[in-house]
Amino acid sequence: MLIYYADHFVLPLPAGHRFPMRKYAALRERVAQVAAHRMRVPEAATDAELARVHDASYTRAVAEGTLDEATQRRIGFPWSAAMVERSRRSAGATLAACRSALDSGCGVNLAGGTHHAHRAHGEGFCVFNDAAVAARAMQAEGRVARVLIVDLDVHQGDGTAAIFAGDDSVFTCSIHGRGNFPFRKAASDLDVELDDGTQDAAYLAALRVALPRALTRSRPDLAIYLAGADPFVGDRLGRLALTKDGLAERDRYVLETLHVAAVPVAIAMAGGYADDIEDVVDIHFATVAIALSLWSTSERRLPRMLDCATPLPIHEAP
Ligand SMILES: [Zn+2]
Repeated sequence: MLIYYADHFVLPLPAGHRFPMRKYAALRERVAQVAAHRMRVPEAATDAELARVHDASYTRAVAEGTLDEATQRRIGFPWSAAMVERSRRSAGATLAACRSALDSGCGVNLAGGTHHAHRAHGEGFCVFNDAAVAARAMQAEGRVARVLIVDLDVHQGDGTAAIFAGDDSVFTCSIHGRGNFPFRKAASDLDVELDDGTQDAAYLAALRVALPRALTRSRPDLAIYLAGADPFVGDRLGRLALTKDGLAERDRYVLETLHVAAVPVAIAMAGGYADDIEDVVDIHFATVAIALSLWSTSERRLPRMLDCATPLPIHEAP
């Protein structure tokens, strides 16, 4: 089980910018205390890898810094060559995490989850859609046929849903705040919309229905899990009310379910905007720690890839 980081490819932001870029370095430092030997720097996603998901004209405009002002504003970051490199590395990290998952059962990107990136535009701090790029790469390399994307960031994975609309080989599942950004939602294969203020018990009950259903319907060779920290009660942008314990229970349920089903999983961190960066780091670190507890001791016993014909030990919810 390998863990990828790219926070030293710094995306420069003006003073006072609301994106908490510091969280990535803080998370990497925390993870290094327990798993330094598993940590790697990913390759940048190539033009060919991006082209399986994004329009060539968009990728070129990002690379050359020629996006129009409105499109750049929608992304929310000022353009720089470093922004481009960082975005490529982040997509490369999820791609590498997928390879680790297929080799060992699990892989982790300590960033990523840029699920508001569409085919031909970025949005909401998302330039390239890392999960989509990674899923397409694994398919193109012949390593998997079917992919499940489990998006538990508090915001709907609208870019991912739009990119894979009408594609039966990639199943998109999103559990998110009904009243939150994006205000015009796309249609995932399975959407669960929660009201403002939803707490642990109701959230976990919804998850325990949705995930088995998504697994049964998708029968994936690989899952990509967006473990957003922003359903947290202390999140500035979240509008839900989960505790840290509730979020850890969420992660444990998702990861144990995939582990039992022998579905390899790549984990990306996605959003987290609590006032105290340490809260975000605590939540993401707990996700990584749960993954380590499940996979770091059992790598050799896991199958390299799930046989598509093997029925999952999961039953359709009533
Ligand atoms: Zn989010």
